[in-house]
Amino acid sequence: MASEPIAPELPRVTAYIALGSNLREPQQQLQAGFAALARLPGSELIARSSLYRSAPVGYGAQPDFVNAVAALHTALDARALLEALLAIERAQGRVREFPNAPRTLDLDIALYGEQVIEAPGLSVPHPRMHQRAFVVVPLAEIAPLAMVPGRGRVRDLLGGIDAGSVTLLRQAAA
Ligand code: AMP
Repeated sequence: MASEPIAPELPRVTAYIALGSNLREPQQQLQAGFAALARLPGSELIARSSLYRSAPVGYGAQPDFVNAVAALHTALDARALLEALLAIERAQGRVREFPNAPRTLDLDIALYGEQVIEAPGLSVPHPRMHQRAFVVVPLAEIAPLAMVPGRGRVRDLLGGIDAGSVTLLRQAAA
């Protein structure tokens, strides 16, 4: 079904999307993820971080992850954005086997403007993002001054995480 056209004058929110992959050429999965985000209706991809390598959290017997963060100007509301992210994950072959399982592509809404959303199946800011070096480090690269509701500025979160647990893999294109 064709997506509804979105009026250009609709106000846009800056949303930050966390990307992660540890299966089937993770770097290519993330590049395809960025490209899919850039094609979302009513949205513009305004920044992408470098790619970082991180050790798996929760279930250790799986490959390291490749992580990044994208900034999107979007007229999609948070629910529509989540549905769009889940559709991109499915299109890239994600199968949900068990929590923290390996994945071809994981897309999370880390921040949606400065909004706090607690709805069925949708929590924004993403509940554990402020503790996760693989989100905070790439986010701090592209948006150090962004506000995380209830937590403060992104750059100030760096002191509370183990930034050394993620390593720079590929610098963002200039
Ligand atoms: P996972 O892909 O394993 O991180 O889990 C995805 C599920 O988490 C989705 O089905 C969403 O309903 C739920 N979820 C809750 N908050 C968020 C968020 N901020 N971003 C993405 N998914 C979320």
